Amino acid sequence: MGLAGAAREGGAALKHKILMIEDEMVIVHFLKSIVSAEGYQFIYATTGREGVSLAASHIPDLLLLDLGLPDMDGIDVLRSIREWSDVPIIVVSARLNEQEKVAALDAGANDYVTKPFGNRELLARIRSSLRQRAQKKDMGAQAGGLFRVRDLHLDCVRRTLSVAGRPVKLTPIEYRILVLLAQNAGRVLTHDYIIKSIWGPYASDSQVLRVNMANIRRKIEPDHADPQYILTEVGVGYRMADEE
Ligand code: CA
Repeated sequence: MGLAGAAREGGAALKHKILMIEDEMVIVHFLKSIVSAEGYQFIYATTGREGVSLAASHIPDLLLLDLGLPDMDGIDVLRSIREWSDVPIIVVSARLNEQEKVAALDAGANDYVTKPFGNRELLARIRSSLRQRAQKKDMGAQAGGLFRVRDLHLDCVRRTLSVAGRPVKLTPIEYRILVLLAQNAGRVLTHDYIIKSIWGPYASDSQVLRVNMANIRRKIEPDHADPQYILTEVGVGYRMADEE
């Protein structure tokens, strides 16, 4: 999504610091070898309390957080860090069910990866979260710029959308949903978050969201059976694809 993100690709030159909070040393060592090979700095804590303290003293660029910690519930660690920090947090956990995913996202997680996961998947999520943060800092799409992913071009200033050069007409609601997803590209937005962002804090009708999403997809997805722009996270929400 944009050149600023591409220029930050790689991460090696920037030495982003990653803090992992995880009590299983096998996973700590495994993650350490993966992220160190990419040139990230890696520090870790094996308890929630130590993790919160390291997050405050080391100011990492990204957190990898296990939810099953010996001393604290991972969700409480998440809430505690969110009180003062907007550092990207990726939950890394085994057997996350849909409710747990929603709870982690609602508590402020940026993303989640379910164990066991592949190196490439994890690294892609890390890059994506770091990129979203950089874009927020640069304001980028937040200010209403140009969003591009593959053949989809969304111009938030002119309020135009095209797919593969073909102009696409959206209703005002569809347009707002698409902009919300584009501003958070790469990140899962829960159904409830999208509904409240679009229809207000008292709205809760997921059927209306489903209908709008189906209409948007009909207009932008070349293959409805295999969406490439708006991805479904079953039982959780939607994720707009980013540049990877
Ligand atoms: Ca654990």
